Amino acid sequence: MRPEILNPLFVPVSELEGIGPKLTRNLTRFFHGAENAEPARIADLLFHLPHTVIDRRNQPGIANAIEGQVQTFKIVVDRHSPPPRGNKRVPYRVEVHDDTDEMTLVFFRGHQEWLSKSLPEGETRYVSGRVERFNGKLNMVHPDLMASEADFAELPLLEPVYPTTAGVSGKVMAKSVRTALSCLPDLPEWGDRELIRREGWPSFREALSKVHRPQEDGDLSPDSPARRRLAHDELLSGQMALALLRMRMRKSKGISRVANGRLAREATDRLPYSLTNAQIRSLGEINDDLAKQERMLRLLQGDVGSGKTIVALLSCLNVIETGAQAAFMAPTEILARQHFANIEPLCSRIGINVALLTGKNKTAERREILARLEVGDIHLIVGTHALFQGSVGFHDLGLAVIDEQHRFGVHQRLTLGDKGMATDILVMTATPIPRTLVLTAYGDMDVSKLDEKPPGRQPIQTNAISSERIEQLLERVRSAVNSGSKVYWICPLVEESEEIKAMSAEDRFRDIESRFGSVVGLVHGRMTAEQKTQAMDDFKQGRSRILVATTVIEVGVDVPDATIMIIEHAERFGLAQLHQLRGRVGRGSDASHCLLLYYTPLSENAEARLKIMRETEDGFRIAEEDLKLRGEGEILGTRQSGMPGFNLAQMEHHSDILDMARASSRLMLERNPGLDDETGNAVRILLYLFGQDQAVKLLRAG
Ligand code: ADP
Ligand code: MG
Repeated sequence: MRPEILNPLFVPVSELEGIGPKLTRNLTRFFHGAENAEPARIADLLFHLPHTVIDRRNQPGIANAIEGQVQTFKIVVDRHSPPPRGNKRVPYRVEVHDDTDEMTLVFFRGHQEWLSKSLPEGETRYVSGRVERFNGKLNMVHPDLMASEADFAELPLLEPVYPTTAGVSGKVMAKSVRTALSCLPDLPEWGDRELIRREGWPSFREALSKVHRPQEDGDLSPDSPARRRLAHDELLSGQMALALLRMRMRKSKGISRVANGRLAREATDRLPYSLTNAQIRSLGEINDDLAKQERMLRLLQGDVGSGKTIVALLSCLNVIETGAQAAFMAPTEILARQHFANIEPLCSRIGINVALLTGKNKTAERREILARLEVGDIHLIVGTHALFQGSVGFHDLGLAVIDEQHRFGVHQRLTLGDKGMATDILVMTATPIPRTLVLTAYGDMDVSKLDEKPPGRQPIQTNAISSERIEQLLERVRSAVNSGSKVYWICPLVEESEEIKAMSAEDRFRDIESRFGSVVGLVHGRMTAEQKTQAMDDFKQGRSRILVATTVIEVGVDVPDATIMIIEHAERFGLAQLHQLRGRVGRGSDASHCLLLYYTPLSENAEARLKIMRETEDGFRIAEEDLKLRGEGEILGTRQSGMPGFNLAQMEHHSDILDMARASSRLMLERNPGLDDETGNAVRILLYLFGQDQAVKLLRAG
C-alpha cells in the first residue's frame, strides 16, 4: 500500500482548482499517452520540469542574439505579412527591428486580428522567445511573450517555461504546476545524509520548489544543486528497484542445466545460413551461464538485424534438452505472432512442441494451452506479456527470453520471479545503448553483444527528400514495385490519439491505393489482432507490395525481402525511432533504400537528425548522437523516442549521479535488507513516489 503521506500527489489533476474535464483530458494525453489512460496526477505536474526560463534580464539585442536560447528583445514592429488567402501552410510573418538588426516573428496559423492588436505596426513591444536562424535571418517562432512597455514593467524578471501540448497553453501549464506545488508535503529524507551534506543539496521539496520557481538563471541548469538533487532521487528509486530485484534473484538459487547441444545442432543444421562468430560467442556465454548454479540475468544486445532471435531460440533448445521449458516473450502481438511463425516450423521438425499465447486466444484454446503447459507437454511458449499473468503455470520454466527491443521496463522482469524460482532470464534489446543507460535500465546485468551483422548484407542507402518531390518519389516507388520490390510507407508521427494516428494512416492508404490499386496494404494500432496479422502476412507473402503503416511496425518486424523504407514527415521522428524503422529493410542480400520524406521548414535539430541518418548506420553512433541532440532540449518527448523515460534526470549531465545512486542503493540494502528502519521507510516512500510499487512488493515477498 502506498504510504498515506503520498496520497495528495496521486489524486487526479481534476481535483485541483481551475482544472476542468477538458484540461484534464489534455494533460492525461500529454503525460500518459492517451486520453483514456489513467488520468494525469498531481505528481505528473510536479515532475514536469520547465525546459527553460524566460530571463527578462537577458536582453542582448538582435545582432547579439544566441541561437537556441530564450531571450527578450525590445523591438519596433515594422510590417505584417499574412499568408496568401487560403494557404494555411505559409506562416504569418511579422518583421521587426531594434537598434542593432532586424528579425522575423513567425506564427503558424496566426490569427490576423489578434496579431495586429498584439503587435501594432510602428509601436514598441517586448518579445521573448527562442530564436533560430533560417537562411541567415533570425527568426522567432511563436514568441513566449509579447508585451507593451507598461505591461512588461509589471512582469517578474524570471519565469519558468514548460513544454506543452495541444490544448494546454504555456500559461495554463505554468499555473497548473504552481497549484500542484502547493499540494507537496514535506517528505522524510531518504538520501544518504553524508552525500547530501557533501553535495550541499536542498531537500526534495525545496529542490522541486526551486526548479518550478527559479530565482536566478542557474536554478534550472542541470548542474544546479536542486536539479542534481532531483536527478539523484529519480535515479536512486530506479537503482533501488533494480537492486531489490537482484537481491531477490540472488537469494533464490538457480539450477545448473548442462546441455550437450544436440537439439540446437539439429536446428542449426536446418538453417539456410551459418551462425556468425558473434552469435556463436553469445551462445557460448549463455550456455556457460545456464550451466552455473546461479540464476542467469543476461542482456543480449545487438543492433537491428543482427540476428538475436536465433540466438534466443537455440538457448531455449538447450534448456529444453535438459528437460525444462522455455518462454519467449515479445513486446507486441504482431511480434509474438511473427516469432511464432518463424520458430514453429523449425521446432516441429525436430520434435519440439511450441504454442502461442497472447491476449487473443479463444477461451477453450487458452485452457488447453495452459493445461499442456502445466504438465510440460509444451516445451516452448511464445507470447506477449499475457505469458506472465497469474493463471499461467509452468511445469518447470528453465529460461525466459524477453524480447524488449528498445522498449525498456523493469516491470515485466519483476513479475517473472513468480513463475519459476530458478528461471534464468535473457533480455534482448536492439538499441545499442551506452553503458550508462544499460546500468540505468537494467542494473548490473551481464551483457552479450552481437557486434557483427550476418554476412552478405548490403549497406542501406539513405536519402532525404523534400515533400515537394513527392510525385517523383511515387514514380520511383512505381518502378520499384513493378520490378518486384516491397515497400514500407511509414505514416507521420502524430502526437494525438491512436484514433488520429489511424486516420492519418488510412488517408495515406487511400491516396496510395488510388494510385497503385490492390497491391497496397495497411496496418495500424486500431486494427484487430487478426487484421494486423492478415496485413503483415499479405505483405510477407507478397500479396501486397506496399505496406502503409504507423509505427506499430517499428520493432522487430521481419520481412527480409522488403527493400524500400519510406518515412513520411521524417523530421518529426527521433533518431532512435528512425534507426529502428530503417532496420526493417536491409535484412536480405538485395540492396535497400531508406527515403526520409521531410516537410519544410526544418529546425536545425531536425536537419541534424536527417544528416546523421544519411551518414551512418552505426547504431552506437546514432544512440550517442541521439543523446546529445535530445539533451539540447528539443522536446520530442521520451515516450515517442523510445528511450527510458526520465523526467528529472538527464543522462548526459547526471551520469556521475547514477554511479552515486547505484552505490547508495547497494549500501542501504547491505545495511538494512528489509528497509525497515527510519531511512528504510523513507526509501519506501521514494519508491512509491516514482512508481516503483512492484519493487516494494518484492520486499514483502522476499
Ligand atoms: P534482430 O536482431 O533485429 O531481432 P533477427 O533475429 O530478426 O534480427 O534477424 C534478422 C534476419 O537475419 C532474419 O531474417 C534472420 O533469419 C537472419 N539471420 C539471422 N542470423 C543470420 C546469419 N547468421 N546469417 C544470415 N542471416 C541471418
Ligand atoms: Mg528481433
